[in-house]
Amino acid sequence: MNELEKLIAGFRQFRKRYYEDEPELFKQLINKGQSPKALVIACCDSRVHPAQVMDTDPGDIFVVRNVANVVPPCQDDGKSHGTSAAIEFAVKHLGVKHIIIFGHGQCGGVRSLMEGKHQDHKHGFIDAWMDIVAPAREKILKEHRDAAFDDQCRACELAVIDISVNNLMTFPWIREMVVRNNLFIHGWYFDIEQGILFERDKSEKGFSPIC
Ligand SMILES: [Zn+2]
Repeated sequence: MNELEKLIAGFRQFRKRYYEDEPELFKQLINKGQSPKALVIACCDSRVHPAQVMDTDPGDIFVVRNVANVVPPCQDDGKSHGTSAAIEFAVKHLGVKHIIIFGHGQCGGVRSLMEGKHQDHKHGFIDAWMDIVAPAREKILKEHRDAAFDDQCRACELAVIDISVNNLMTFPWIREMVVRNNLFIHGWYFDIEQGILFERDKSEKGFSPIC
């Protein structure tokens, strides 16, 4: 079985389950439309697919994925902003009640950020994208200067979640809903080595295991 055959066989399984064995769910999702309760902003990493990791059904979560689960600050400049457009759709049009920034261990995007600017042509887009969260690197180099590189990367993965959470609050309509308790923002971190889920503590800005 080659790589694509595996994916097509997977679709067959999916279709059998949701169109033959349990057709009600999709009938409802088609007739009534989607109404996911949470927006999950995750990394592109193949090991951390939110629908898989959180064992969700179709319609449960609205997912945006980009390199290193980065939320850029609100820039209302009329230019194309893919992640911001998806956030706008989830919040303003679908009315999600929760936004989860879903960071993870061994993140290639964060590792690339911690390596610093590259001179090669393999990192042109990645370096520019990770620039959004460059303050995370500066913070780690200051606070964990003598730590091993892997430990710096882990600390930076958590710092990137902090920045993404804070950047969400630069969108005025998000801030307003959060202040009114109509929208809740969460920072989660999936430790892929230990299989543990951590949650960002809103007051102390630390992370504690929740599962
Ligand atoms: Zn990643």
